[in-house]
Amino acid sequence: MASETVALIVAAGKGERMGGDIPKQFMPLAGIPLVEHGRRALTAHPGIDRVVTVVAADNSYPVAGETVAGGASRRESVRKGLEAIGEAGRVLIHDAARPIVPATVVDRLLAALDGAKGAVPVLPVADTLAGGGTALGDVVDRSALVRVQTPQAFDFAAILAAHRGWPESEEATDDAQIMRRAGHEVATVAGDPLLEKITWPGDIAIAEARLGATMRVRTATGYDVHRLAPDEELWLGGVLIPHDKGLSGHSDADVALHAITDAVLGTIAAGDIGQHFPPSDPQWRGAESGQFLQHAASLVAAKGGTIDFVDLTLICEAPKIGPHREAMRARIADLLRLSPDQISIKATTTERLGFTGRGEGIAAQAAVTVRL
Ligand code: MG
Repeated sequence: MASETVALIVAAGKGERMGGDIPKQFMPLAGIPLVEHGRRALTAHPGIDRVVTVVAADNSYPVAGETVAGGASRRESVRKGLEAIGEAGRVLIHDAARPIVPATVVDRLLAALDGAKGAVPVLPVADTLAGGGTALGDVVDRSALVRVQTPQAFDFAAILAAHRGWPESEEATDDAQIMRRAGHEVATVAGDPLLEKITWPGDIAIAEARLGATMRVRTATGYDVHRLAPDEELWLGGVLIPHDKGLSGHSDADVALHAITDAVLGTIAAGDIGQHFPPSDPQWRGAESGQFLQHAASLVAAKGGTIDFVDLTLICEAPKIGPHREAMRARIADLLRLSPDQISIKATTTERLGFTGRGEGIAAQAAVTVRL
């Protein structure tokens, strides 16, 4: 749409300087590919309506959301991305190698576009700059220089026309230069050290430290009870457990997965399991509860969050949980794409007191920690 603000992420490069077999933009940063960090941040920004990622024509790595095949150079890839977008009001062109995108920089860029057809985030040069080689050359006056970052924001029609007018035989370092060559002035806004580009292998560790510093830890709890009844299967923690009774209720009544799902939803204040999967809806009758948990986890991921830890307590007289603990940990880890050492399962009885003590039902409580 002509009024839309679109983010175009360039993730078609080979990233040779990083070494290794994986192109840089797919290397994991805190367990998530670089490109996905930027994609989530841009998707979550309220000023951005649509996010398109340009990938290599022969790309075999999974990329979420809308993708477009790129070209042989960065410039060609951006051009193809712009052509594929077709129509928009504004576009932010971003390099996947800059995984941390502070919303404040996007705010500044969009505000600058009110008075200019292009805007880029820049940082001052702090180090002394001088000619290199085997012997040191003359110092360059750094006061006149800035470091240019991405995303770079443009009036869509203007940057598309500038790309179309650029000579095929020539390469460009970035889109702002293509825009300037077409006669447009490009405004500058304050950049952010968090936007630093991942170039060398050591940069990943630095970015992980930065990312850790920007994320907030949240913990939420969940609680659920289901009735034990004869002639029911006992699903607990995603595992079928042999027992003379099973849990009855909405879906497969996996009380453990329901408590964890509620805790996951709680970390993003997204209501409870009953709101997302109403018991009155016949499509959830007998449903596997693993899908509820995965849906909740996908909502956290869509907000740029990472689940760090799950702690579950099962409250029942029988069955004994110990023999099934490792299978449950493995299954829950699998559902959440975590490692089993991020899943804790405990069990307790209530000393034969109350409904759990009388074997009428099983209760579960969970606490989930995320970074967001
Ligand atoms: Mg339930």
